[in-house]
Amino acid sequence: MNFEEKRKELVESLKDRGILTQQNVIDAMLKVPRELFIPEDVKSSAYVDSPLSIGSGQTISAPHMNAMMCEILELKEGEKVLEVGTGSGYHAALCAEIIAPPDSKSPGHIYTIERHEDLAENARENFKKTGYDEVITVIVGDGTLGYDKEAPYDKILVTAASPSDIPSPLKDQLKEGGIMCIPAGSKRFTQYLYKIQNIDGETKKKKITGVRFVPLMGKHGFE
Ligand code: SAM
Repeated sequence: MNFEEKRKELVESLKDRGILTQQNVIDAMLKVPRELFIPEDVKSSAYVDSPLSIGSGQTISAPHMNAMMCEILELKEGEKVLEVGTGSGYHAALCAEIIAPPDSKSPGHIYTIERHEDLAENARENFKKTGYDEVITVIVGDGTLGYDKEAPYDKILVTAASPSDIPSPLKDQLKEGGIMCIPAGSKRFTQYLYKIQNIDGETKKKKITGVRFVPLMGKHGFE
């Protein structure tokens, strides 16, 4: 299968649908090989715009969701990003391609937290394979606690659905002026994607669209 051709076609269709608009996100989606982040048995669907199973009962989000979330975050080169929910590592690699492209010597870095050890280890291997291992640090643990050691973050990306009450450690670890993109709502049904911003010491929350994500488990998540 010609993955590069399929990748280009997917990007063109996301542009036509008005989902992909920011040039740095378009370039990243054209560059990062989604086929190298997913299991062998679903590789032929690498560029179908749908979520895919990645093991441990988890999924990699549909490409339109990756694109939308990257655009909400307004990512810029040199930023420090926290991702909660590493999964396959694909979404973190997209962010890395924008904030710290390989060979750019950019100070940008991504800290990504995954609660399943096997998924975290698989993502580490995926980053090595694709050359993003120096700009992405994978942590195994409860991402609802954030990662205080490297806080505050310019941007926070949460890729599992939180309860409506957004985990307070994540709000506290977001820089003044920073942006968090997070799905929130009920565990299995009504969920919305939110853009959260810390402005003048206040947390502002904007509802973007209805979504469907696996639940964010943990101390400040679901039980
Ligand atoms: N970003 C991923 C990718 O590109 O493949 C997709 C993530 S998947 C939709 C959600 C992930 O969040 C799952 O891998 C799940 O194990 C993880 N997760 C759920 N609750 C978590 C928590 N409290 N801390 C860290 N990871 C969590």
